[in-house]
Amino acid sequence: MLSKNNEKNSKARILSKYEDMFVCPVCSSFMKVVNLKSFICSKHHCFDIAKQGYVNLLPHPFKTKYDKQLFEARRMISQSGFFDPLLARISEIMMENLQSESKLIKILDAGCGEGSHLSQIQQRIMDQSQCNLLGIGIDISKEGIHMASRGTSGKAIWCVADLAKCPFVDQQFNFILNILSPSSYSEFHRMLADGGMVIKVIPESKYLQELRGIFYKQSDRTVYSNENTIELFNRNFDLVELQRIQYGVTMENKYIEQLVRMTPLSWGASEELKQQVLGKDKLEITCDFSVLLGKKMSARRTN
Ligand SMILES: [Zn+2]
Repeated sequence: MLSKNNEKNSKARILSKYEDMFVCPVCSSFMKVVNLKSFICSKHHCFDIAKQGYVNLLPHPFKTKYDKQLFEARRMISQSGFFDPLLARISEIMMENLQSESKLIKILDAGCGEGSHLSQIQQRIMDQSQCNLLGIGIDISKEGIHMASRGTSGKAIWCVADLAKCPFVDQQFNFILNILSPSSYSEFHRMLADGGMVIKVIPESKYLQELRGIFYKQSDRTVYSNENTIELFNRNFDLVELQRIQYGVTMENKYIEQLVRMTPLSWGASEELKQQVLGKDKLEITCDFSVLLGKKMSARRTN
């Protein structure tokens, strides 16, 4: 078991090794790790490396409504295997689209939350290939990144950062993951390497339909459509493929509470309805996602 200081140092060393990928979020000049303690740009904007090894690259503090409890709930749900079929499929897609196993593959998880999606995907790919992977997870929530940097292994860098102004130089990433999270397409476009791929996951109409049915019996929130999201994606990237992934999960009581905490669906529901769900021994839950695979428009195939 690494001591906290060693853990910080090993993460800071990875950051130092790949410091060339970063630009200062204030002035866009190049960044350097100094004494494994600070990340400083050439114009002296300074960002401390936290004792957990992550770096907060927000120029100003930002408070999100996603708190520690929500990320703890998502990590528990993730560890229960809830997302496994989805993450397995994403890993397969990435392996099918690897251009070369010999060079370093750089993955950005944009809106990584507490980091378990990126960590699991990295682990799955490393288990099945000889790939050299670097994962970088960014999220605007400090609570999420704090948790990501503590509970995950593998070669990864975790940063608190603004999706609308990502602190990276152009054309860096072979894959940009954007899983159940808001997008910043102009930034994705700027950061994607030639031949790289954006993998965006969006919820589909049957996702959590059992919860939706209980919480929103009498309102139009029981159905929704993704048409606009897909159209917007397609306007920004060449949508090379859209894969629908559906599966069922039986949630035991101990996970039901975490699921309710994790999903914004429950935020507007009455306490009575919430208790009704929390009292169940088991709950069958439908997972229904679309995975959108996009490449840069300039790389549009002509056939
Ligand atoms: Zn600067």
